[in-house]
Amino acid sequence: MPAPTPTQLALPHVPRLHAYTPGLQPTEPGWVKLNTNECPYPPSPRVAEALHREIGTDGASLRLYPNPPSTPLRAAVARLHGLRPEQVCIGNGSDDILNLLVRVFGGPDAAVGFTFPSYSLYPVLVEIQAGRTEVIPFDRSLRLPLERIAASTARAFFLTSPNAPTGVAFANADLERVLASFGGLLVVDEAYAPFADADAVPLLARHPRLVIVRTLSKAYALAGIRVGYALGDPELIGLLDRVRDSYNVNRLSQAAALAALADPAYYAGVVAQVRATRDAHLAKFTTQRGWFTYPSQANFIFTEPKNARGESGPAVAKAAYDFLYARRVLVRHFPNHPLTSPFLRITVGTNEEMGLLQDALDAWLGARAS
Ligand SMILES: *Cc1c(COP(=O)(O)O)cnc(C)c1O
Repeated sequence: MPAPTPTQLALPHVPRLHAYTPGLQPTEPGWVKLNTNECPYPPSPRVAEALHREIGTDGASLRLYPNPPSTPLRAAVARLHGLRPEQVCIGNGSDDILNLLVRVFGGPDAAVGFTFPSYSLYPVLVEIQAGRTEVIPFDRSLRLPLERIAASTARAFFLTSPNAPTGVAFANADLERVLASFGGLLVVDEAYAPFADADAVPLLARHPRLVIVRTLSKAYALAGIRVGYALGDPELIGLLDRVRDSYNVNRLSQAAALAALADPAYYAGVVAQVRATRDAHLAKFTTQRGWFTYPSQANFIFTEPKNARGESGPAVAKAAYDFLYARRVLVRHFPNHPLTSPFLRITVGTNEEMGLLQDALDAWLGARAS
């Protein structure tokens, strides 16, 4: 009898898992990188100062484990949102928070629900737990499928608002309709809410089954530092703390996040600039080019390219993607579903980067015409 292989010893669902596909992170310089919704501006200068202070001259503080529950950061996040520290849990990125939620609410006998399209990490996290998923599709209108969510038997339902990859935000009135009709936990992933006109935080006071998930990766320009958080009822936060790694947020990340949150004036400027660039280019796509584009409340634009002959569709979007790629302009194309395949998702960069993008698209249209 040969000894069993690691694959044979693994739980049967694990060898069948598909890992999440992150956007390309090119290692060589020279790309206009508009593919993973990172911030085009650096974080507050206070972040680098805080990191240097934390490291000191010899890195001695790194001998010591970090504050296990990230207590000072919980207090700062609570202050930011007008909540109590017991309503906050800090994660190693919001992906960590989403994973904690799946650990608490998902399993072989407990479905976790989400819409399609939305953040494609949700099914990956559920499947790691051998959990059941319940997928509720949008149609092209992207109106919230309220009746179908109401009928869902999922223990937790994940909604991205503003949604990814479309950028469309859901009104608080609609979220309250979901909370009134759906019996499970409603998780609103607000990764892009700092770029939106409104957010769901005011609903927390009335709805103990609402959880809001935020990240410092996008609006705080700290994707590399991995900090996100959950806002919710203290009872729910207590459940997340039971399944959390005890040292889930490292010392440097806690220091960086605290410094970022202490500089709201800087970030108000960053967000205002990203919104202004977004709105100028939304208008360019819709009015000037005549491309169907969803009204974005996020830091990206989801637009349906039309070629020089006025055609759109998956092949046209792919052709535009390839042309941009050859010119070292990196955007995102999601070819696997009819709702997303005719579109490109373009992160809002600096005005200069967006100018290079528009020039490359002009060149694409010119190349097609000849
Ligand atoms: C970027 C993103 C996240 C991930 O945030 P991290 O804090 O970097 O893990 C979560 N949800 C959505 C919808 C996102 O777009």
